Order: sequence, then structure tokens, then C-alpha cells
Amino acid sequence: MYPFALYRPASLADALAAFAAAGEQKYLAGGQTLLAALKLRLARPDRLIDIARLPELKGIRAEDGFLVVGAAATHAEVAGVDIPALAALAGSIGDLQVRNMGTLGGALANNDPAGDHQAAVLGLGAEIRTDRRCISADAFFTGMFETALEPGELIVAVAYPRPLRAGYAKLRNPASGYPVVGVFVAETEAGVRVAVTGAGHCVFRLPEFERALAANFSAAALQGLAVPPGDLNRDLHATAEYRAHLVGVLAARAVAAAG
Ligand SMILES: Cc1cc2nc3c(=O)[nH]c(=O)nc-3n(C[C@H](O)[C@H](O)[C@H](O)COP(=O)(O)OP(=O)(O)OC[C@H]3O[C@@H](n4cnc5c(N)ncnc54)[C@H](O)[C@@H]3O)c2cc1C
Repeated sequence: MYPFALYRPASLADALAAFAAAGEQKYLAGGQTLLAALKLRLARPDRLIDIARLPELKGIRAEDGFLVVGAAATHAEVAGVDIPALAALAGSIGDLQVRNMGTLGGALANNDPAGDHQAAVLGLGAEIRTDRRCISADAFFTGMFETALEPGELIVAVAYPRPLRAGYAKLRNPASGYPVVGVFVAETEAGVRVAVTGAGHCVFRLPEFERALAANFSAAALQGLAVPPGDLNRDLHATAEYRAHLVGVLAARAVAAAG
């Protein structure tokens, strides 16, 4: 690890001003990804700005049909929310230590192609609120470890529409907890959405599955639908063909879990 300074701002404004200072700055949330990258010397920031305790990024509240979760909410805190599919998803992440340290904002900013939260954010059609704008889930995830965030832009909160019904199913890697594939299915006032994580280079939706479920929200409606393995991930955990198979199986399980 290269040496760096650590700054703990007292407010959001203080954090944003600190980021604008000379030299390379990085926000530090739960540190579950960033500290590993620093240990491997993959990054060399001059200063880390610790945002994990900022009051503006903490808290979970109800707001006009939305559940608004602060970016510094830990996975353990999200596991206690009153949207059961989202709570179950957060409770399935990693292990106790990861869930107590890792944050929603850090997970979204990092945008691991197998991240769990990505599936709920895209599946519910949530809105990512930053210090400078609101970004729809459809516009936020732009590629592998890439998002629409601009340099220095800070995720403040995520606003999830409350679903009429929603379910999440994943095949969990027994070592890390990451989904080999995970599928989030939701019906909200805006319609049905199906989001897949772990299968491709970035979380993605399944329009054909969404149309079938909009007509008939049942696992039976998905019979005969398939995802071509062509662009899916292939690695030591699973072939692309196995992942394609899992998408169908897990989508049906997610619908069953949604009730
Ligand atoms: C052993 C292990 C198992 C794991 N298993 C899973 C799993 O099963 N499923 C899963 O989804 N994830 C898993 N993770 C990832 C973990 O859940 C963390 O969410 C993730 O590593 C990043 O969150 P963090 O708060 O630790 O962010 P950090 O590591 O602190 O930061 C990550 C990046 O995000 C940036 N950042 C942080 N917060 C913000 C913000 N509010 N706005 C803008 N940028 C920000 C940082 O600058 C940094 O670039 C695992 C991690 C480990 C180490």
C-alpha cells in the first residue's frame, strides 16, 4: 500500500470541497473494495475522504411511494428495510463483516458486474440521487465497473419505488457470496421489470421476460423463454451456457418468491 492521508469531513459540503483540493482524492465508504485495491497498489490516491459517517448519507426513510436509502447505509442496514425482496437481497451479500462495512453507495459506484444491489436498483427502476442530479437506474450502469458518475460526483441516496410485488433469486458463490447469476423481478406502478446480474459484463434487463410477466405474472409465463449465451460471462465459476440456463431458472424462482 502506498502512503496516503485520511480526511474525515463533518458534512457533505465539506466532503465535496475536500475532493476539489489539489492532488488525487478518493471517497472511502466501507472500504471493502477500495482498501483491497490500495493493498494491491492498483490505485495511488494522495488522500481518502471518509464519507461513511456523513449524516447526509445516512438514514432510511419513506417518501411519497418511495423508500429512500442513504448511500452510506450498510448492507446490514438495508437488510432491515420493509421491501422484503430488497431486504433479502442485501442480507445475502458476502458475510457478516462485509454486510456491516460495505455500503449501498460504494457497491453502486464500484458497479461490479456481479453486484447484488445493481439487480434491485435496475429491477425496481430506482433513482440514484447524487450531490448534483438524479440519475435513472436505466442510465446509471454504463458498463463493467463503469457508471454515469462524473469525477467527484457523490451518490447521496437511492430512491426505490415501492413495488406491488418483487422477488430476488440468485445462485450464490459459496466462497464470496457474489451471485454467479442473480435475477430481480418487480411489478411497480410503472410496470414489470426484470434485471439480471452476474451473467453479463454489466447488469441488464430482459424485455421479453418483462412482456410475458406483464401479461401473466407467473413462472409458467416464462416457459420457453431463453437468453442466448453468446455475450454472457464465461469463467472458472460457470460457462456462458450454464449462466443462460440459470437466468431462466432464477427468473422463475424470483417470480415465485414475489408471490
Ligand atoms: C469478501 C467480500 C465478499 C463480497 N461479497 C459480495 C456479494 O456477495 N455481493 C455484492 O454485491 N458485493 C459483495 N462484496 C462487495 C461489497 O458488498 C461492497 O459493497 C463493495 O465492495 C463496495 O462498497 P464499500 O462501501 O465497501 O465501498 P468502498 O470500497 O469504500 O468504495 C468503492 C468505490 O466506490 C466509491 N464510492 C464509495 N461510496 C461512494 C458514494 N457514495 N458516491 C460515489 N462514490 C462512492 C469509492 O471512492 C471507491 O471508488 C463483497 C466484498 C468482499 C470483500
